[in-house]
Amino acid sequence: MLPDFAYLRERANDIEAVVLTHGHEDHVGSLPYLLRELGQKAIPAVYGGPLTIEMVRSKLDEHRLKDVRLQAVAPGEEFDAGPFDIETIKMAHSIPDATAVALTCELGTTLITGDYKFDQTPVDGVPADVARLAELGREGVLVLCGDSTNVDRPGIAVSESSVGPHLEQVFARCRGASSSRPSPRTSTACSRSWTPRPRWGGRSRSWAGRCART
Ligand SMILES: [Zn+2]
Repeated sequence: MLPDFAYLRERANDIEAVVLTHGHEDHVGSLPYLLRELGQKAIPAVYGGPLTIEMVRSKLDEHRLKDVRLQAVAPGEEFDAGPFDIETIKMAHSIPDATAVALTCELGTTLITGDYKFDQTPVDGVPADVARLAELGREGVLVLCGDSTNVDRPGIAVSESSVGPHLEQVFARCRGASSSRPSPRTSTACSRSWTPRPRWGGRSRSWAGRCART
């Protein structure tokens, strides 16, 4: 599936900023292509959390896009773009530095959650800023755009922090093909932008007496 930039291309002169909610590839992967489409006249500034901005910086370098204004903003920080007051709100996700974005103009506030789950023990140790979300709700939200995987499944998603101990158990159980000893090599794979999981994998392999290479 390819993104259709037609709507944005037709309004390129009205686009003041691109605001990124987090660094997962399905959320930042098309940025170089989008900026090329919009950049004939003026490349809009790109805002995001500090980790997200550094991930994006290396991606733009790969595409030789050196003149993009990249602006790191901490959760809770406010800035303006055109007629909008913009605020980022800390959310919990399987990658650190995920935020929601609240866009306020004279008509009201639109809240875009980004990918999220309510995880009490998130990988970056900072849970979602539920108090600020509630406050925005009390003030009134005109439109809510939510994005949470498996939202149609009943129940509660497990914490991202529970992934590591599970990997540890699985690696410790893996045996070599012809021996009862632990397998000397264990390979794991995951999305490049799923940053905590290679770290967990490396730690689990170390715990299981293996050398970790990524
Ligand atoms: Zn994501």
